[in-house]
Order: sequence, then structure tokens, then C-alpha cells
Amino acid sequence: MEEQLEYSEKVMDHFRNPRNVGQVKDADGIGRVGNPVCGDLMEIQIKVENNILKDVKFKTFGCGSAIATSSMITEMAIGKTLEEALKITRGEVAEELGGLPPIKMHCSNLAADALHAAIKDYMAHKEEKEKIEAQKYDFDVIIVGGGPGGLTTGILCAYRGLKTAIFEASNWGGILSWLCPNKMIENFPGLCEKSTCSDLVNSWVNEAKKLKVELKKERVNEITPDKKIIAESGEYKGKIIVLATGSSPASGGIKGEEKFSKRGVYYYVRNPGNFTGKRVIVVGSGNSAVDAALSIADTADLITIACKDEELRSVPNKIERLKAIDRVKVLYNTEVLEISGTDNVEKVLMKDLKEDENIQQVVDSVVLAVGLTPNTEIFKNLGLEMDERGYLKTDKTQKTNIDGIYAVGDIASDLQLVVVAVSNGATVAHNAYIELKKPYWR
Ligand SMILES: Cc1cc2nc3c(=O)[nH]c(=O)nc-3n(C[C@H](O)[C@H](O)[C@H](O)COP(=O)(O)OP(=O)(O)OC[C@H]3O[C@@H](n4cnc5c(N)ncnc54)[C@H](O)[C@@H]3O)c2cc1C
Repeated sequence: MEEQLEYSEKVMDHFRNPRNVGQVKDADGIGRVGNPVCGDLMEIQIKVENNILKDVKFKTFGCGSAIATSSMITEMAIGKTLEEALKITRGEVAEELGGLPPIKMHCSNLAADALHAAIKDYMAHKEEKEKIEAQKYDFDVIIVGGGPGGLTTGILCAYRGLKTAIFEASNWGGILSWLCPNKMIENFPGLCEKSTCSDLVNSWVNEAKKLKVELKKERVNEITPDKKIIAESGEYKGKIIVLATGSSPASGGIKGEEKFSKRGVYYYVRNPGNFTGKRVIVVGSGNSAVDAALSIADTADLITIACKDEELRSVPNKIERLKAIDRVKVLYNTEVLEISGTDNVEKVLMKDLKEDENIQQVVDSVVLAVGLTPNTEIFKNLGLEMDERGYLKTDKTQKTNIDGIYAVGDIASDLQLVVVAVSNGATVAHNAYIELKKPYWR
């Protein structure tokens, strides 16, 4: 075979118009090689993203073949995975260039060596960089709110090996442990009628502790866009923040409500004993109003539900149970206008919306079960997208519009169910793991 003595057209093209000459900004790896015999010096710099060579540039001092091989390898390497790039050989570079004179094969064809050196340099520093990076953060995942959404997200993140903290301002277990700790769970598959709200919350707290979730009983006062939370004991930085602040009982906006708020006006029913022998008006149309009436059925003397709608919006078996209790009366199409009294609640003024008539009723207590309002105060200034009712908007991974900030449970869903909060937690834990650990299968 005739020996190649001249440069191919492709070599000349890369020599005259070298591609990717220069310096990669904040290079992740640098490889330098040289040939002491002919004096060629080659430097290749790389930028890596998700194991892929996003940029490759070179600076070469040498002959036409040294320039052309450097230029060619940058084109061959960009877009390849590190493993693929490590497999590029000197021979393949020469082949891509349409061949090189044999004398140049050994002295000037060093580009593959320089690229491999740059990748090895990157790999050597990667682990070190990851360690330094990890030290900048207090936790992988910080969860704000320790209700069903926050606790179960924490458990599932810790289960995947993520360093996790949950901050809770008040009661572990959220609104359920605050308002109805002794209520039997009726709609959590597998636990129906087997577990009270407290039992469920206690088992979550124990699981979280076992998995070494850091449980911090303190309020978060602010969250910054760089994923720092400002709590009572100081500032903490997380790679991911999960908002699980839930909701609080909504105000009925009724005249006199505030005045009698600790003197006969209640938000939901925490202690049925408070209603023993009392005449009670329950305000609301949904599940919570029905729950409230059922929970005081054994203690109150007379229970009237003032329901603004044509029907109660609750599950059929609860409505059946309610109908079977003589002391419960439902006033449909009825709005409560005013709560009045001297020291304590004595009367309510209601309006029959169909008949357009006002009705006065003597009562001892008013229970407002008119819904829940999302707790959004601490991130009002963060620029998170919310719908018109204040619920956070998320994508199907539960991510908000701000990178690294997720939301679970009642703050992100008007379904207001424990089972939904728990499933949101599973979604977040899966996606947080992918985002932070970058497993090979993603
Ligand atoms: C009376 C009633 C009965 C219900 N019954 C059922 C039922 O039978 N079945 C069912 O599936 N669902 C029921 N629900 C709905 C259920 O309670 C909610 O869907 C569920 O609690 C949502 O969980 P969460 O974690 O999103 O929010 P929450 O339970 O509201 O918990 C949020 C937590 O975040 C904390 N928090 C808020 N702000 C901060 C802050 N700045 N810093 C630190 N912590 C903060 C709060 O203190 C709270 O503990 C009921 C609700 C009510 C009101």
C-alpha cells in the first residue's frame, strides 16, 4: 500500500479553519499532553452536564496535523457521554480526517489522549466537588409543615436516603390532630374504621424518627428564592424545599363572629364535651359540617345545620346517619347573617334565601365549618404561582413554578384528603431523589 505523505483535504480544512479553538468558561476538566520530540503541546477543556460533553475546546501549539486532530476531536466528542468519549481512539480521529501521514500518527495525533486526560481530570475532581457542594447545604430536603403531607413526604424522602428535615409550627399531624384527634379514619384504604387520626399521626411520627428525619418543632417565618428557610432557631439551606403548610379554618365573614369568637363561636368541633346540653347551629354545606354535626350528636341538645345550598355536599352514608338522628334539623337555602348576644352567643339571625325571609333562632353555640383557607403567608413574596383561591399551582411532579420548590397536600389541592396529601408526598420523594441523586436509570 502506498504510504500517505500529504495532508488530506479534511486535514487542511481543519488546519485552516479550526473548530472550537479557545477556552471553556469554568471548565469542568482540563487535559494537557505534549510530545517532547516534535514539541507539539495540546490542551483540551471540557464542560459536562448530566454526564454529557456539552462543550469541548482546545488550545494547541504545533504543526498542521496537531491543529487538525485537536479540531476534529472536539467535533467528535461534543454531545457524547463520557463513556463514549473515552472510547474514541487516535486511529478513529485520523480516520475521520481522511488519514494522516504515518510520521504524524505518533508525534502529532495526541488529541484523543488530551481528551481522555480532560475526562479523567473531571472525574477526579467530581467527587471532591460534590462533597464541597453538599457542605453548603444543611439538608437535601426541607419540608415546611408537619401535617399528613409533610410527614409522609419526609418519611418517603428519608427512605430514599435523602437527608431530610421537617419544620412544624404547631401540632405534628396538622389540622387533623388539632381539630379531630379522636375521629376514626373513614376514607384511607386499609385503615378505615381501624385507626383514629391520632393513631395514624403517631405512627407517621415514629416512622419519621426511625428513618432519622430531623423533626423540628418551630415555625418557619420566611422562605427565600435561593431555598433558605428562616425559622425561629436560625437559617437552614436545603437543596429542595417542600411546602406542606396546609390550610386553616376559614372565617364565615358573619357579623358578630369575631366578637364572640371565644364566647360560643367555634371553628369545627375539637371537643364534643363543650357542647353538652347546648343548642347548636352548625354553619356549612360540606363534609366538614356533616362531620361536625355527627361528632356532637351524642352531647348537644339540638343541632341545626344552616346550609346555604339545596343539598348537603357529603358522602351518602354520612347523610343517612345524620337523617336518623332526631335532634338534627337541616335548614337548606339558609344563610347566617348575624351572631348576637350579651356576654356569650344567644341568638343567630338567618335568611331563608328561597323565601327571602329572615328567621331568628335562640342558640348557645355556633360551629363554623365553612371550609379551609390555604396557609400562604410565609411565601407571599416568593413569586409562587397560585390560583385565584390561593392554592399553589404545581406540575405533575408537584413542582411549583420555582425550581427546587415543591408543594404537597392541602396547599396544592382543593380535594383536601389525607390520601391525596400522602400520594403527593410519594411523587415528591421520587422526583427529589431523581433531581438530587441523578440515578443512572434517569
Ligand atoms: C374537620 C376536618 C375533618 C377532616 N376529615 C378528613 C377525613 O376524614 N379524611 C380525609 O382524608 N381528610 C380529612 N380532612 C382533610 C385533611 O385533614 C387534610 O386534607 C389534610 O390534613 C391535609 O394535610 P396537609 O399536610 O396538607 O395539611 P395540614 O394537615 O393542614 O398540615 C399543615 C401543617 O403545616 C403547619 N404549618 C403551617 N404553616 C407553617 C409554618 N410557617 N411553619 C411551620 N409549620 C407550618 C401547620 O401547623 C400544620 O400542622 C379533614 C379536615 C378537617 C378540617
